Amino acid sequence: MSKGGLEIGRRGLMLVLSSPSGAGKTTLARKLLAAEPSLEMSVSVTTRPMRPGEAEGKDYIFISPEAFTAMQDRGDLLEWALVFDNRYGTPKAPVERALEKGRDILFDIDWQGAEKLTKAAKGDLVSVFILPPSAEALETRLKDRAQDTPEVVKRRMAGASNEIQHWEDYDYVIVNTDVEGSVRELRSILAAERLKQSRRTGLKEFVRGIQKKL
Ligand code: 5GP
Repeated sequence: MSKGGLEIGRRGLMLVLSSPSGAGKTTLARKLLAAEPSLEMSVSVTTRPMRPGEAEGKDYIFISPEAFTAMQDRGDLLEWALVFDNRYGTPKAPVERALEKGRDILFDIDWQGAEKLTKAAKGDLVSVFILPPSAEALETRLKDRAQDTPEVVKRRMAGASNEIQHWEDYDYVIVNTDVEGSVRELRSILAAERLKQSRRTGLKEFVRGIQKKL
């Protein structure tokens, strides 16, 4: 932004979205990315094999266990986790590059990943927890998703109950009653967080420039 010749820029932010599965987070993330040109999705590295339909560099960056270990040893990962024998991690360099350019990064991760990211990148992080409007709505969405056995649905409900426990650790909470309304709320959060004093570069010089002329 240019005001009287002085530039006010901003450092990007890391937007973390977490929710129990079935609360509509994936749809919200997709719509938010489409509506916000300066927001991009973080692409994780993983040691798991590529699945049909996945694309290198889009869904994940697929690397060997040795390459993953090397990244861990060099401190190239902001956080990582072991999930069913495979390792997944968030590469540090692309995040840092984006933040410096004033671009924002979206992370679709669970509460454990969010907790680790919070420790690694405190000042840059904005976290949002997505809640379903009710237990019944969540159950309906989980049942609609696939023709699963009642046991599988029950297990997913238990998983949801575990994830929901962590809502208080987040900066913001959105009750996803209607998708468009939730997208509006997410965009309001982004708009306000982008204006935070601590993220705005050149603000001191800008104010000094005004003061000099007063
Ligand atoms: P999938 O193999 O089905 O794509 O993912 C398995 C799990 O790994 C999911 O729960 C997903 O959220 C998690 N995951 C994917 N990328 C990362 C990452 O960079 N960090 C962490 N902590 N978990 C991840």
